[in-house]
Amino acid sequence: MRELLTDETAVVTGGASGIGRAISLLFAEEGCDVVVADVQEEPREGDEPTHERIEAETDASAAFVECDVSRYDDHLDAMDVADEFGGVDVMVNNAGIFRAETFLDEDDEVFDRTMDVNVRGVYYGARAAANRMVEDGGDGGSIINLSSVAGLRGSADFVSYCTSKGAVRLMTYALAARLGPEGVRVNAVHPGLIETAMTTDDVPIFGTDAEDAYTQSIPSRRSGTPEDVADVALYLASDLSGYVNGESLSVDGGMANTQ
Ligand code: NAD
Repeated sequence: MRELLTDETAVVTGGASGIGRAISLLFAEEGCDVVVADVQEEPREGDEPTHERIEAETDASAAFVECDVSRYDDHLDAMDVADEFGGVDVMVNNAGIFRAETFLDEDDEVFDRTMDVNVRGVYYGARAAANRMVEDGGDGGSIINLSSVAGLRGSADFVSYCTSKGAVRLMTYALAARLGPEGVRVNAVHPGLIETAMTTDDVPIFGTDAEDAYTQSIPSRRSGTPEDVADVALYLASDLSGYVNGESLSVDGGMANTQ
């Protein structure tokens, strides 16, 4: 059995549902204690809470902490819980929201909340984690930021979302420059079309007439799963990527570079 993250502790924002849940579960299978930091405990897609499943099915420890990533103090609470497991080694800034918008007659609500969660949330999460990773002679760590193919190219219906995810990509490069000398690696992941509550409920693609056309336009001819993204997050969290820093990795079946 592989145990790529033995004796490590991860904080995963948005870890209750979807991609963050898959990351949390995979990390725990690899020996990592996990703090699930989310605004809600129940998975959006149903089933038992992530931390309860980890405790029941793996040897790892897990806890839930209520955290709105747009509030810095909430991140500090998550770091305090991680300290109970030995201190944060891996920070996954995964929480995000996705809203369609018309742009021309839009009020500020979509833009403001999208930037608050998707950009401020990553900035605060990185800062809170990095402070713990470098203080008291800490031995560094890995920060993984969830961007999107929408952070690589423009899309007419999602101006705020693309803006936020592009910011996450550039923030990742800047953070890698700032934190690399401190022993902290910072990388971004750019998922393509992944089936979660985000793409079935918030901006429905799965279960609609458009699903097949989307899927067939992807070179791999399938949509992605949360587990596809979790595998890449595991690589970036572990020593397998020990010399990978300031990188942005697409997990999109070839979508971003071919359309
Ligand atoms: P999801 O909606 O299934 O899960 C998101 C989780 O984040 C939920 O548990 C939710 O409660 C939590 N969350 C939302 N706002 C929060 C806040 N303010 N503070 C803390 N937690 C909060 O979404 P997902 O599809 O799993 O997306 C995860 C990440 O991946 C997001 O950053 C998203 O933008 C990105 N992404 C998703 C896709 C996709 O196709 N699903 C594609 C590209 C990028």
